[in-house]
Amino acid sequence: MKEKDWDYIARLEKAIAKKYGDVATHNPSRYWDEDKEKEYLEQLKEQRKKEDAHSAKTEHKEVDGILVSTKLINKSGFDVCPVCSKYGLNVKDEIYMYKYTCCFTCYVKNIEGREKNGNNI
Ligand SMILES: [Zn+2]
Repeated sequence: MKEKDWDYIARLEKAIAKKYGDVATHNPSRYWDEDKEKEYLEQLKEQRKKEDAHSAKTEHKEVDGILVSTKLINKSGFDVCPVCSKYGLNVKDEIYMYKYTCCFTCYVKNIEGREKNGNNI
């Protein structure tokens, strides 16, 4: 194994300190202790509780055997594209659902070209 080049390490540390400040060359554990660790774990627990409480408040609906947050289900009533069975339609898809009763992808694939040629489906 190659021996450590202490001179190089010292120069590196100096350069880092010059560019980012002294604190950048310190070992992070220097600023961490058991109290801070405890506080951090306590904060994690609090955060977890908040998230649990939040998800308990969120309504879920079963879709194909999977519980999905109602927030993720669009309000238009279009859940799935009848042409390609794509589930989880986005806003763009919804617009195409209203106009062409298929998702954007299906519109591009099946309708766009024909429309330009002046042929209606
Ligand atoms: Zn589709």
